[in-house]
Amino acid sequence: MILRRISIVLLAGLLLWQPASSFAQDSSDNVTVHVVQRGETLYKIAQQYSLTIEAIASFNNIADPTNIQVGQRLLIPLSGTPQTAVPATHVVQAGETLKSIATLYGLTVEDLASRNNITDVNRIFVGQVLNIQAPAPATPSPSPLPTVVAAAPAQDTSPETPSLLYTVKGGDTLFRIATRYGLTVNDLVRANNVTDPTVIYSGQQLIIPGVKPPESAFDLPPNVSHIDVNPQMFVEGETGQIRLTTAVPMTVTGTFLNQNLSAATDQSGLVDTIIIGIPVFTDAGVYPLAINLTDAAGQVTPINLNIQVLSGGYGRESITLLSSRTDLVDPVLEDAEFKKMHSLMSNFTPTRYFDGPLSLPAAASISSPFGRKRSYDGGPFDHFHTGTDFAAAPGSSVMAAAAGYVVFADKLDVRGNATIIDHGWGIYTVYCHQTTQYVKVGDFVNTGQVIGTVGSTGRVTGPHLHWEVWVNGVQVDPMQWVQESFS
Ligand SMILES: [Zn+2]
Repeated sequence: MILRRISIVLLAGLLLWQPASSFAQDSSDNVTVHVVQRGETLYKIAQQYSLTIEAIASFNNIADPTNIQVGQRLLIPLSGTPQTAVPATHVVQAGETLKSIATLYGLTVEDLASRNNITDVNRIFVGQVLNIQAPAPATPSPSPLPTVVAAAPAQDTSPETPSLLYTVKGGDTLFRIATRYGLTVNDLVRANNVTDPTVIYSGQQLIIPGVKPPESAFDLPPNVSHIDVNPQMFVEGETGQIRLTTAVPMTVTGTFLNQNLSAATDQSGLVDTIIIGIPVFTDAGVYPLAINLTDAAGQVTPINLNIQVLSGGYGRESITLLSSRTDLVDPVLEDAEFKKMHSLMSNFTPTRYFDGPLSLPAAASISSPFGRKRSYDGGPFDHFHTGTDFAAAPGSSVMAAAAGYVVFADKLDVRGNATIIDHGWGIYTVYCHQTTQYVKVGDFVNTGQVIGTVGSTGRVTGPHLHWEVWVNGVQVDPMQWVQESFS
């Protein structure tokens, strides 16, 4: 009863109020009531509704904007033309610093750091979601009066609401994308009529409702005009790419996760691409990426980024070896073979022979995906599946996934008859367990060229094609390379 009476009184108050208001013309039905919560200031409330302090103060006849009370009701004019809203969050881009981001939103570094519980201002990372607005009070404040009209947040769903078109990249999940923009998975599902939230694909375009393209606050050295980190968060077992655009030609080198990185330079000499393989078993966390740019005079410009690495979520399998087939797994042999392959595939060829995504090496379905972590006979999960298996019929064609030079075509203990192709830029593909090999070292092969036939040589239980992709000496998920282009 009391509640209803208050709401009626309040509504009456609103109706009475409006004709007298200077905002009434445009916003006859665009007024909401905000109940001041503990910890709120007029400044914060104004920010929340994309208004100025003055607008709220004059609309409510507040003489002293510094003096508002918890529980006080404020009339909030919701103007038809939204003003530049301060977003709730900011996603850190490569080249941004806490200082440049703070400046973008008119905050101090200390303010921004404390809003995000950041103790070391140099430890922010690409893709990190920073809270720009002050956090809401931890506990709801006891209000002396019941809340009559819920305060509507500034975000609305009117057709004018700006939307961002986001292109799905490898390693993305709806959850990850939603989190990045401060949304829920449901928000994305509704906006895009997604029927199965677990199925999204690389290159798919998603509408991000109510989100403007984020502002950026680049704080790059003067001779660097752009840095792209793609995807913004790296994933264990997957491939990432850094692309730098410079004002003058530079020699680019870098280190990440104890790997020395080489960059490929385009013809203009102004765009450098670094392709990075994230080893399986890399713990999730934030890791420093150090890049050095050296100009013609030998002047070195360092750039330091922090990159987040996420778990690949590959799952586990325990394998019990029959005593008669322990010959299938021999860690000593495996390690020796890995070292041999690693030294071969750590060479960086500056010419790129691949173009766009890789083609499939066999016309067959996948029988075992990359990355699953394995334990043998109850031992530790310290092995993983280093490639993608295709259930191809024995004798069927093995095809080159892209153009390149054959650098190995011989027999290996575990992988059997194996062919290795160098595609340039540190990218190699490996084709294992073949019966026949049609190419030899030094041959140049084209995309789709038949290089051999499927078999069961090496340590296998049956015929299949085991296919690996190596990036800068690291085994990565080959299927990401089929779906995405790194050229
Ligand atoms: Zn395999």
